[in-house]
Amino acid sequence: MSVYLDYAATTPVDPQFVKDASEYMLKNYYNPSSAYKEAGAVKRDMEEARAIIAESINAEAKEIIFTSGATEANNMVINGFMVNDEGPDYIFTSPYEHPSVAIAVKDAGLSIFTNTIEDIFEWNNRQPGLFTYMMANNEVGFIQDIKKVAEIAHAYDSVIHTDATQAYGHIPIDVKDLDVDYLTASLHKCGCAKGIGFLYVKDETSLFPLIYGGGQERGLRPGTENTAFIYAAGQHVKRMGVIKPDYTLRDYLRGKIKLLPYCHINETDNQLPNILSITIDGVRSDVLLALLNENGICCSAGSACHAGDPSPSSTLLAFGLTEDEALRTIRVSWGNETKKEDLDFFVYVLQQCMRLLEE
Ligand code: PMP
Repeated sequence: MSVYLDYAATTPVDPQFVKDASEYMLKNYYNPSSAYKEAGAVKRDMEEARAIIAESINAEAKEIIFTSGATEANNMVINGFMVNDEGPDYIFTSPYEHPSVAIAVKDAGLSIFTNTIEDIFEWNNRQPGLFTYMMANNEVGFIQDIKKVAEIAHAYDSVIHTDATQAYGHIPIDVKDLDVDYLTASLHKCGCAKGIGFLYVKDETSLFPLIYGGGQERGLRPGTENTAFIYAAGQHVKRMGVIKPDYTLRDYLRGKIKLLPYCHINETDNQLPNILSITIDGVRSDVLLALLNENGICCSAGSACHAGDPSPSSTLLAFGLTEDEALRTIRVSWGNETKKEDLDFFVYVLQQCMRLLEE
């Protein structure tokens, strides 16, 4: 038996996505920028997908730029700001960001880190700048109050970007209500294939392109579009419908883990429904993950992006864990296909592994 509990790294691909995308690329291979009617139909399908994705976050279709995923989209926002001569004087950010934000911010050399959103108030810097705060964290699964950050950012005449990669498809997102200027997401975190994501750019907000070409995607992401994935992603997001977070599995697993004296749960009172971060006494996560894997469980330490890095996760340290605790932390994440029995199996295997390690 093998149980996949690493949905925060990527989800299984919805078979209907595969069917839609493969049929589309076989039949509708036309370049959407060509002039004949077959190509025009592809262009229309692409625009329909754009409208569907836009509606899913209460945006306008023209505000959606398709990308290969969130890494690209995050770089487009941060570096797109930096190539502008009149770019920001500073970048407010959290210590929890994904490397695709954190490294770009670090390279810009203008960062001001705030552990909590309230810390922003300690700065009297009211020069226009860029705020970049992830909506939901990929390692611990906590949700940040982006509406509040947006309020502060705009009070500072600044713009706000939020990386919603872990949030999209898991909690409702309304860009108008949040009042964010940029939002990014990767669609393989909610049932699409890897290689498709989007950037939301609020209508009246500008951004400098990082690459130049044929002017596709408002000139921000030129290059012939990935039409089959865009079409299939639109259909997939339509099937997802209105997002209603369901905490049943999280409450169930949390209840079971709480009973194990060597497990400690890392969480805030505002969490995603599909991630549980657990610090385990007496065993390094790399040793435990290998043993869990030998016994049929796929899960991660901090995050998949961090795998193979022997240093403790900076997110977990910023969250308040010691280096030793951070190195003993695993992330369990699940999704649509997961059943209570899968979580039972995980808890059973975890207990067996801990017994083995004690011997
Ligand atoms: N941001 C967050 C919060 C993520 O979890 C990830 C993926 N782990 C990314 C950005 C990057 O997404 P991708 O690898 O699909 O580009």
